[in-house]
Amino acid sequence: LFGSGRMFLPQVVKSARVMKKAVAYLIPYIEAEKTETSKPKGTVVLATVKGDVHDIGKNIVGVILQCNNFEVIDLGVMVPAAKILQTAKEKGADIVGLSGLITPSLDEMVHNAKEMQRQGFTIPLLIGGATTSRTHTAVKIAPNYEGLTIHVKDASRAVGVVQNLVSERNRAAYAERVATEYEKVREKHAGRRSGRKLATLEEARANRTRLDWEGYVPPKPNLLGVEAFDDYPLEEIRRYIDWTFFFHAWQMKGSYPKILDDPNKGAEARRLFEDAQSLLDRIVAEGLLRARAVIGLFPAAALPNDSVEIYADGSREEALAAFHFLRQQRKKPPGRPYRSLADFVAPKTADLEDHIGLFAVTAGLGAEELARRFEEEHDDYNAIMVKALADRLSEAFAELMHERVRRELWGYAPEERLDNEALIREEYRGIRPAPGYPACPEHTEKRTLWKLLDVEKNAGISLTESCAMSPPSAVSGFYFSHPESRYFGVSEIGRDQAADYAARKGWPLEEAERWLAPILAYDPER
Ligand code: SAH
Repeated sequence: LFGSGRMFLPQVVKSARVMKKAVAYLIPYIEAEKTETSKPKGTVVLATVKGDVHDIGKNIVGVILQCNNFEVIDLGVMVPAAKILQTAKEKGADIVGLSGLITPSLDEMVHNAKEMQRQGFTIPLLIGGATTSRTHTAVKIAPNYEGLTIHVKDASRAVGVVQNLVSERNRAAYAERVATEYEKVREKHAGRRSGRKLATLEEARANRTRLDWEGYVPPKPNLLGVEAFDDYPLEEIRRYIDWTFFFHAWQMKGSYPKILDDPNKGAEARRLFEDAQSLLDRIVAEGLLRARAVIGLFPAAALPNDSVEIYADGSREEALAAFHFLRQQRKKPPGRPYRSLADFVAPKTADLEDHIGLFAVTAGLGAEELARRFEEEHDDYNAIMVKALADRLSEAFAELMHERVRRELWGYAPEERLDNEALIREEYRGIRPAPGYPACPEHTEKRTLWKLLDVEKNAGISLTESCAMSPPSAVSGFYFSHPESRYFGVSEIGRDQAADYAARKGWPLEEAERWLAPILAYDPER
């Protein structure tokens, strides 16, 4: 039904609300005369893995499975493997579904699979969430568990997969098909990985982005040090929302505002948009979410080893901390630079007074409580809507603060006047890369950022052991002001860089390999 484009996720989730409210009313009667026909088709235990807090996708999956008469036991977020598996045993679950958003969760999913094997489980394991993929599932997770492990690409496919798995008739053939397909994925992957060439770290560093520092005058910030913002007006923030991503959260692909007039999904998109606007009106009017931000601008200089030192003040005598950036190593044609974010800060040898900015923002304080209130009223639609809106507001807040930094706090672009579309197209000078994203994929750098800005105290955002931000609707990162600074992906690094990174972080090598696992080159020797 989803595939044919005649039905959309918001509709299903909304209909679940009607159903659940009715069921809640009828429960006493239903319990009294439970029949064979009302028996669920199967039991699914769902959880967001330990260290991770993101649950919009998982919650959508839970609702649509319930709509299809599956019993869903949702254990929530940050759930350790032991608890997931214990629950699956106790409830006689037919399927376990794991969700996660950030890359360290991939490792936690591998751990879950190993535990299932160790404890003698045989039931299928479903894998879902933004950083998961069929390749990762086939290559890294499935080989650890003899039961079937399946990647579920998006919420709308969950029902089909689960239905096949509980069907006596289809199960064996379906499992066989997935196993064969994943075996092919593994073979293809091995071939591709071994064919890829990396530059050595030394070579990559020798071919960094060449910026002309000689004639360059770094812009001097108006604000130096740290500033916190509390109770930032949501009315202002909402003007910066990028609605395209709101539709993505509801798995409606297409760009805003075009999607509203789409011949196929326009009507549903409009309904969803109107529902969002009216809830947002309420959130703003009643102050149901709280927005906080902290930003800092510091003197900084890049070292030859791709770390950037942060100084307490203009004297640059005392280094407060250093950020350790990574560099691209995937082989390029001659003349093309191997990039690192460190390239965009003036090198220490240039003796220039350059700076770097740090930020952490959220508009998601209170979202969890508000969502819970809706859930208690059996209103999953609005519970999910709250979280989707909190995400949008937080991203919008990041956009707004970045603009204020350029125009006023750093102040290198006081004349900039861009409308929402131009902001979304990033037609401004400078970037705000976020740790955990492609240019700086290693998450623990957030711990340094947290220390320098005292983010917990100044903005009310904390880090889990996997360095996920809590509340989940939060954005943090760096500000680079250089006109030539740009986004890129580190993509893949060699063992030489992992060792160098371990030394810079003061870590044992295994620690570096663990955090760098998602980008560390495949080594057939290991
Ligand atoms: N408008 C979007 C947010 C922008 S997504 C929304 O509302 O959700 C783009 C942001 O992702 C950038 O501002 C940056 O913070 C981050 N980003 C994108 N590409 C990146 C990369 N290669 N490395 C690091 N961060 C990146």
